Amino acid sequence: MTAAPAPAAFVPFRRVALIGLGLIAGSMAHAMRQGGLAHHIAGHARSAETRAVAAEIGLVDSVHDSAAEAVAGADLVVLAVPVGAMGAVAAEIAPYLEPGAILTDVGSVKQAVIDAVAPHVPAGVHFVPGHPLAGTEHSGPRSGFAGLFRNRWWLLTPPPGGDAAAVERLSGLVRAMGANVDLMEPAHHDLVLAVTSHAPHLIAYTMVGVADHLRRVTESEVIRYSAAGFRDFTRIAASDPTMWRDVFLHNKDATLDILGRFAEELFVLQRAIRMGDGQQLHDYFTRTRAIRRGIIEAGQDTAQPDFGRTPAVPVPGAASAD
Ligand code: NAP
Repeated sequence: MTAAPAPAAFVPFRRVALIGLGLIAGSMAHAMRQGGLAHHIAGHARSAETRAVAAEIGLVDSVHDSAAEAVAGADLVVLAVPVGAMGAVAAEIAPYLEPGAILTDVGSVKQAVIDAVAPHVPAGVHFVPGHPLAGTEHSGPRSGFAGLFRNRWWLLTPPPGGDAAAVERLSGLVRAMGANVDLMEPAHHDLVLAVTSHAPHLIAYTMVGVADHLRRVTESEVIRYSAAGFRDFTRIAASDPTMWRDVFLHNKDATLDILGRFAEELFVLQRAIRMGDGQQLHDYFTRTRAIRRGIIEAGQDTAQPDFGRTPAVPVPGAASAD
């Protein structure tokens, strides 16, 4: 692929090492290539099968059997494995990280990843944790695409007193891949994501589970008439089971807090329905409609009737803010 020139101000990384070669790492590889943002992209995945697919489709410039080989000489290392695997991977690569290198991750939870990774980071290596708020329900080395991060947010949660130049350098890469950067405290990140992503995913999993258990509605009816809201739940509930198991296990407190509040609200609406309180339901739905308008105005979705499920670029699934 011919690389387009990077934005004038951005100096490409010499060697980027992607550890994990799934949706997020693959999308980064495509975006970095398209933008000419790295001279060499090295990759490693745990299984021989994923490594073989990555090599076959030319996802990265070099595929390595070990994470240590991939990170050797890299000035940027990206941990793109499930949240629960971050600590072990960091311990494995730590002795091979170059002084001055930037180490980042893309995990959907931040405090638990920092707790697991930071103790392994050698002096002179700059750890800048991150999380792209972009995803689809697809996973694996074939699922990535260059436009995944376009106009999405990428949150960075650097430690206090960390290297400001490293944060700026990583921010430059993120912007060059089309995303917007914001800095946040890790605990605040985890609470925000519990509201916007983690609890909604659990609710979607639950709703699909309810339909599965409800024998009075046949499976074919659920599938045939799924346009009525259920379809969106099924898309979310098709997300990678390993990734989401790890998200809930590692963002336990914030998710449980939000689910507690959710249950309270649900009881309020349940009672309004039981009591026939149409005014309360109408007022509630009017407030929630305003939130939807705010999301559209912020450019994070379109006002089209498919609620933005049709992506702007041809991809094997619609993008969602994970
Ligand atoms: P993915 O497509 O499932 O890819 C995961 C990669 O991690 C695969 O290459 C896999 O290797 C490797 N891996 C899995 N378990 C591992 C282990 N125990 N040790 C070492 N490597 C392991 O996942 P993804 O969607 O790219 O997600 C990667 C990270 O991004 C996760 O931390 C997730 O929370 C975060 N994230 C995901 C989304 C999203 O919507 N998907 C959005 C934002 C952030 P094999 O293929 O060889 O098993």
